[in-house]
Amino acid sequence: MGLILEIKNLTKKYGGLTAVNDMSFEIMRGEFIGLIGPNGAGKTTLFNVISGFEKPNSGSIRFDGMDITGLKPFRIVNLGISRTFQLVRSFHYLTTLDNVSVACLSQRGKEISNIVGINNYASTLLASVGLIDKARLPPVILPHGDLRRLEIAKALGSNPQLLLLDEPFSGLSHEEAEGITSLINKLREEGLTIFITGHVLRELMNLVPRVIAMVQGKFVIDGPPREVANHKLILEAYLGRGEGFA
Ligand code: ATP
Repeated sequence: MGLILEIKNLTKKYGGLTAVNDMSFEIMRGEFIGLIGPNGAGKTTLFNVISGFEKPNSGSIRFDGMDITGLKPFRIVNLGISRTFQLVRSFHYLTTLDNVSVACLSQRGKEISNIVGINNYASTLLASVGLIDKARLPPVILPHGDLRRLEIAKALGSNPQLLLLDEPFSGLSHEEAEGITSLINKLREEGLTIFITGHVLRELMNLVPRVIAMVQGKFVIDGPPREVANHKLILEAYLGRGEGFA
């Protein structure tokens, strides 16, 4: 165990809008933790700041004991944080295998690729997400559920210690979401630290043992899903929008 991520007083502003407002929390190595909040709460912005896509206005991020605040995304990937995006992005006309191979070219991916060969490593990852039979197809013809699997395979290409999954269930059918749930559970059982966002608490309720909730950029509560779901501010934020928890 031990601390893997330490966020202190993190703030990100866009002009007059404070998208992430003084957030502080810690994640232990091997944890499986959810981040919830209604649309616009600041979840993606928080992931963008942790993964280096955005620089914070203030506050700090320590990963594995090292200050990574404001580092560029490639440096953060090479240190061991990978992420997926809410909107899936791929090289549409490369094969799925080549899409994963590109991710394996990162420093940490190369360490493994040099031993087993890049195609072997990428193939193993495609097999682990259930896409090996589609290795030669271009992502442009794949259904949405497969694209989400591919996103995860690419994120695994850099051999992360911490995986950030941004709304991995977004836009999926019930069946596709179940497939992604099993895949995430498998990664979790393998010991990967996973931080996952969702704007519907129901999706994360049975998945993660611990949830952090934020509303309008601010930290609200950190605890077991049931406790979080029954917090007054969370009930207001969701019920006010016509959503409830199962
Ligand atoms: P969702 O569940 O809809 O993805 P979210 O919780 O991920 O929402 P963010 O996308 O982080 O929320 O957005 C937080 C706030 O910051 C929103 O008000 C959004 O409009 C604003 N925002 C995000 N990115 C930018 C940007 N690049 N420029 C200006 N405002 C932004």
